[in-house]
Amino acid sequence: MIEAKNVSLKYSDGTIALNDINLQVEPGELIYITGPSGSGKTSLLKLFMGVEYPTSGSLAVLKQPIIRGQASKIRKLRRSIGPVFQEFRLIKGRTAVENVMLGIRFLNIPQKQMKEDAINALVKVGLKHKISTLAENLSWGECQRVAIARAIARQPLLILADEPTGNLDKDNALNILELLTSFKDKNTAVIITTHATHLIESFKEGKLICVSNGSIRQERLG
Ligand code: ADP
Ligand code: MG
Repeated sequence: MIEAKNVSLKYSDGTIALNDINLQVEPGELIYITGPSGSGKTSLLKLFMGVEYPTSGSLAVLKQPIIRGQASKIRKLRRSIGPVFQEFRLIKGRTAVENVMLGIRFLNIPQKQMKEDAINALVKVGLKHKISTLAENLSWGECQRVAIARAIARQPLLILADEPTGNLDKDNALNILELLTSFKDKNTAVIITTHATHLIESFKEGKLICVSNGSIRQERLG
């Protein structure tokens, strides 16, 4: 579902964030991307989302080439991707369930069904009791779970989580990783970035991609 061939990304200020990346991701795969701050992890996810384009090489996500001039097709591609951003991007003044519904608005399903789907997603992340709580009254960890619910409510084929373990102690970090991993199934791949390299020994399955200075090294886990 992701095919990257000799992909490089150079930002307009000349920073080479990624250099000659080759990577293939299959449906149902679990991928951890680790590496120090500034190594290129977020840039890699931005390419997968079609937010940035490769400056050389070729990249296809769910068969959609990530190239300039296909903006509307790339927007459509994003409906099949469930992103969990570092900063969550919840909307204040809206409840947990409204925030999740905003994430699936584009699916054009009836309001009632949309609310049911949003509630189901919140139940899956353990927030049944916070459905009607305003975003600003949720704890950091609860906001993170709402962000995950918003990503899974659309039943994505690809879940992309950027540093979901940041700010968490080891137990909570492992809980969040376990939660995200639980949404992997035969059709859905899960990709998680983390700079918490001390967690790696806890990863029991999947593929580990170590990014350093824009280059990657891959290992199989377990
Ligand atoms: P990580 O997520 O691993 O911390 P990033 O992908 O955010 O790394 O950044 C990789 C490199 O690209 C860093 O040197 C960073 O400063 C640079 N970078 C990230 N975004 C931009 C941008 N929009 N413009 C210029 N340089 C950027
Ligand atoms: Mg980052």
